[in-house]
Amino acid sequence: MTVNILFAAREERWSQYEGPLRQALENAGVNARLATDIPAAEVDYIVYAPNSDLQDFTPYVRAKAVLNLWAGVEEITPNKTLKIPLARMVDPGLTQAMTEWVTGHVLRYHLGMDLDICRKDPVWQPRTVPIAAERQVVILGLGALGTAAATALVQLGFKVTGWSRSAKAVDGVDCLHGPDGLEAALKRASILVTLLPDTPATNDILNAESFALMPRGAFIINPGRGPLIDDGALIAALDSGQVAHATLDVFRVEPLPREHPFWAHPGVTVTPHIAAETRADTASAVVAENIRRGEAGETFLHLVDRARGY
Ligand code: NAP
Repeated sequence: MTVNILFAAREERWSQYEGPLRQALENAGVNARLATDIPAAEVDYIVYAPNSDLQDFTPYVRAKAVLNLWAGVEEITPNKTLKIPLARMVDPGLTQAMTEWVTGHVLRYHLGMDLDICRKDPVWQPRTVPIAAERQVVILGLGALGTAAATALVQLGFKVTGWSRSAKAVDGVDCLHGPDGLEAALKRASILVTLLPDTPATNDILNAESFALMPRGAFIINPGRGPLIDDGALIAALDSGQVAHATLDVFRVEPLPREHPFWAHPGVTVTPHIAAETRADTASAVVAENIRRGEAGETFLHLVDRARGY
């Protein structure tokens, strides 16, 4: 039987994904009609990016699932026309990219690399560079990405604390959860990494109170989502020295508006939402596996709990 798979993402993605997806579907034993223009009533699965033109799912009466190409789902969970299962992307390639990005930025702060790279004057000024075992890194969010980043940092020798909604066990990581856990985590966060999803419960989770709980001179790395941070509170914490520096990859409005104070602030590094992209090869295998599962009557991987928002 042929399975009709609609690819609903921006045009440039089709050229990236068409080959890898066809190959992955063949590898998974799925006999597929894969296209960008299948009539709505004939579609069995929708491979989806939230910035595609498709926003009304009502006409897709026989579709069995929406398979998101992005890890973040905040732009699709509020869509009331979507009534079928939604799977988010957990892509080994993206996870590897995020692990490398987080590790690199943690090491930048940990080693004080800016002190050397940004030096303009010819002053020979030795200092003792710390080792990882002396540094407490805290990761908010212990999902696919937070767990991978935490594990890599543990392997480098850092003291790592992770925080999540439910209780977790990750080798070498001090896992905390719930509101008390958050307070305890923030208090020890010399370097804080946020890998939480954007949901009503995580909005502004880093605010004036949370910055005040952190050790003075802490560093923030946010590759999660912009709304996790109260922007004004972060600027105030940077100006007072409570937060020493922040590296921000994601923002409430993207692209970050030219007039936003983050651009000019000496305590902020802005990166343009580049921490980790879905990779066509590895992500296609995940999509194909989910379609195979759907056809075999098995549970989909990485299902989103729409009420929870992630
Ligand atoms: P995930 O597997 O769904 O993990 C989310 C983690 O956050 C889980 O540990 C979850 O706790 C925790 N969490 C959610 N709500 C919480 C709350 N209210 N209180 C405490 N913990 C909470 O997601 P992921 O794949 O790791 O991705 C995380 C986020 O990274 C994505 O949502 C996306 O926004 C962002 N991202 C950014 C980029 C980039 O390029 N910048 C790329 C990909 C993803 P439980 O484990 O208890 O459920």
